Amino acid sequence: MKIFKPLDLQKDTQNANIENVENVKCLIIGSGPAGYTAAIYASRANLKPVLFTGLQMGGQLTTTTEVDNFPGYPDGVTGPEMMEDFKKQSERFGADIRFGIATTVDFSGKKHKVTIDDNKIIEADAVIIATGATAKYLGLESETKYAGMGVSACATCDGFFYRGKDVAVIGGGDTAAEEATYLAGLCRKVYLIVRRDVLRASKAMQDKVTNTKNIEVLWEHQTVDLFGENGVEGATLVKKKGTLAEEIVKIKIDGFFLAIGHTPNSDIFKKYVETDTVGYIKTIPGTSKTNIAGVFAAGDVQDPHYRQAVTAAGSGCIAAIDAERYLSEL
Ligand code: NDP
Repeated sequence: MKIFKPLDLQKDTQNANIENVENVKCLIIGSGPAGYTAAIYASRANLKPVLFTGLQMGGQLTTTTEVDNFPGYPDGVTGPEMMEDFKKQSERFGADIRFGIATTVDFSGKKHKVTIDDNKIIEADAVIIATGATAKYLGLESETKYAGMGVSACATCDGFFYRGKDVAVIGGGDTAAEEATYLAGLCRKVYLIVRRDVLRASKAMQDKVTNTKNIEVLWEHQTVDLFGENGVEGATLVKKKGTLAEEIVKIKIDGFFLAIGHTPNSDIFKKYVETDTVGYIKTIPGTSKTNIAGVFAAGDVQDPHYRQAVTAAGSGCIAAIDAERYLSEL
């Protein structure tokens, strides 16, 4: 059966298709320190960048309270305030900041096509991917309840607020070992809660953990809940005993640090852009260049190691400079 649309509606659909394609020189995807810094540099270089923020405008830092380690803020700043400053600074030079989520990409041609919100195509000469990474959580209701009130996924960012207190780090990889040793320098006691009877971390990091007196490793423990009146005051753990038996253990802590890995937000690019086995975008060392000419990556989506706001900002600057050079050679 043929369905006839009213004339106006047919016209609207056709126009919508045409209007929904926009050409830009430089497209930036993501609004964390990497994306906004790329926008500052790209707009100052007259690349007229358009930046799409993604769902979480401002990125991971908007879930942090105080940021004390970003240079230029001698008295510290909250994560959301700092990201607002980044945004304002990029807009001052003409960056076009828009709310929208990149849903699919087509990097097969000379012009790179990025679909926004499934209903608009941006054709860009250069694309800077700055979509960040998402820290993994255990999935407990109490993690959400105490977000910013004792639960953190970044010891370097938040550890300072737990000086002299007892905290727990969850995980057995290099990040967990590194964060536990970092926190041990600030806190009275650090519990390292490991779900197996071995650490996945490198031998060197394992040695550091073992040689740090105020780290206690709780082997074969899983966290099942967090409790506290106005923030985290403790955690309920289950200790595996043999194959069948289990024991409930309660520990008193003020801070609960997740270090069970991050997921780089790279899924939509994987068809074209090379990633490592975890999903981090591969860049040519010392640059932001990916395997696709004109597609650059900056920030946590390409950085499994440092993941700091300041390193992300630095890599955003590199990406904008790489994009500028690429565009001038086009
Ligand atoms: P990893 O994936 O290496 O480790 C994650 C850890 O979390 C594992 O021990 C895992 O346990 C544990 N885990 C995962 N899910 C759960 C869960 N639901 N409950 C309890 N525990 C859980 O992530 P990392 O962030 O540690 O490291 C990522 C990469 O970055 C690695 O390649 C690492 O080597 C690298 N890195 C390097 C550093 C350096 O060189 N200085 C510093 C930090 C990271 P299990 O072992 O049982 O799977």
